[in-house]
Amino acid sequence: MKFFATISFLIFSTTVFSQNKTFRGTILLTDSFSVQNGKVVFPIQSDTLIIDETGVAKINLTEPSNRVFYFLWAGWKSKLFRYETDNCDSAIVEVKIPEKIYYEEFHQKKACPICNDGKYLIPVVYGMPTKKMMRQADKLKIYLAGCIRPGYDIQFYCKKHQFDF
Ligand SMILES: [Zn+2]
Repeated sequence: MKFFATISFLIFSTTVFSQNKTFRGTILLTDSFSVQNGKVVFPIQSDTLIIDETGVAKINLTEPSNRVFYFLWAGWKSKLFRYETDNCDSAIVEVKIPEKIYYEEFHQKKACPICNDGKYLIPVVYGMPTKKMMRQADKLKIYLAGCIRPGYDIQFYCKKHQFDF
């Protein structure tokens, strides 16, 4: 009897507490300025979602390939969000952009935030490339980022996920 009571409680609690399967997030720039435009990138399936005029992105987590994503605004990235299940908090998440400290941790670990691995990483090189650098870039030994720095540090590029951070 106790066993059945436990089972029913488990079924009850999963239906009552696990109903939120849509992640809702809004971009907040570091100076607390909220923006309307921007997009959500799903690096696993190389897909993007344009945030509509409400300013709130709605991500359906029942689709497993939607469970890894980051927000992008004017070339600046948020941290990477990763959900193991389709269950998330119902409150609207204020997504901070750019997320410097989060990526500094991955610089130190020398690991891509998406694959959590350093196997596919190549260094990012700024400035006017020499011929040697162009050959290295062709062979995917380095990633040329051009002359304009994005305002924060980008050190690596993951060849597998086409992701710079
Ligand atoms: Zn990767």
